[in-house]
Amino acid sequence: MIIVMARGASDADIAAVVEKIRSAGLAEHVSRGTERTIIGAVGDERTLTADMFEPMPGVERALRVVKEYRIVSREVHPGNTVVTVRGVPIGGKAIQVIAGPCSVETPEQMLASARAVREAGCRLLRGGAFKPRSSPYSFQGLGVEGLDYLQQASRAEGLPIVTELMDVRLLDTFLEYDVDVIQIGTRNMQNFDLLKEVGRINKPVILKRGLSATVNEWLMAAEYIAAGGNHNIIFCERGVRGFETAYRNMLDVTAIPVLKRETHLPVIVDPSHAGGKAWLVPALAKAAIAAGADGLLVEMHPNPCEAWCDADQALNPDELATLMRELAPLAEALGRTL
Ligand code: PEP
Ligand code: MN
Repeated sequence: MIIVMARGASDADIAAVVEKIRSAGLAEHVSRGTERTIIGAVGDERTLTADMFEPMPGVERALRVVKEYRIVSREVHPGNTVVTVRGVPIGGKAIQVIAGPCSVETPEQMLASARAVREAGCRLLRGGAFKPRSSPYSFQGLGVEGLDYLQQASRAEGLPIVTELMDVRLLDTFLEYDVDVIQIGTRNMQNFDLLKEVGRINKPVILKRGLSATVNEWLMAAEYIAAGGNHNIIFCERGVRGFETAYRNMLDVTAIPVLKRETHLPVIVDPSHAGGKAWLVPALAKAAIAAGADGLLVEMHPNPCEAWCDADQALNPDELATLMRELAPLAEALGRTL
């Protein structure tokens, strides 16, 4: 059983619900989000009914959830959740495109990237300061220095930043640098300790799909974050590992409507890591939007030939601007804006 408290429910209302759960012999799991609190009753639910909770002050709804994920489930929250990042809504009518280089390289490269991203009409900037590389001998990212360049570029162009966190020990540093959106990468989708830690803060989190994770595993990974009280989660499909070698990963377009049905949280798509080639990005981006994605995460470099990481898949500034122009009528046809 899950008890969804109304916005503005008081501590006393919450305590009364907890008391009722305990007196029925079950334990509570309280997830305090910034907007609302959700209380799970853990144990043998057969003794509980929705009628026991719904008339109580501060309770919006009580429901039995049979799925393993609850807070992220659409059953608990039928409307779409909009995650707002420094005033930019993700998950509403507007499609948001997050763009920028794979990795942060120099202050000049980040400033040029941020300018191109803003000029193309995108409203969020990406860039990796900590890079999960398959080879230990590849460039691993600039680390904290990269956060500094990212922040400078963000300030210069007024764009919120998205960057990947790989290590729980760096969470406080990410907060000090005021990272706007924390990206949990593919390789860490099931790093449960990392998920629990980002669950304790209320910064928005982009949760990328694991290399071969099922939709159910992905939803449960998000539930780890939500259970800690952070309900600001954005799913990001980035292609899964398949048998095909002609491109980097197989973009699972089917996952988009499946996820939109299962969860109220926003779903975005990374066409760059899916295709692995810049020329594939526009087609995959359009397919994603047509299938109902709420946004895109696109790699763009001011000079792709010189990119230190993922050069093949980076759009150049002109290609990003063209993509944005091509997406606008598609968004409109779908009843959305760009
Ligand atoms: C990235 O977005 O920079 C990245 C490393 O992506 P993924 O985790 O999807 O491989
Ligand atoms: Mn990359």
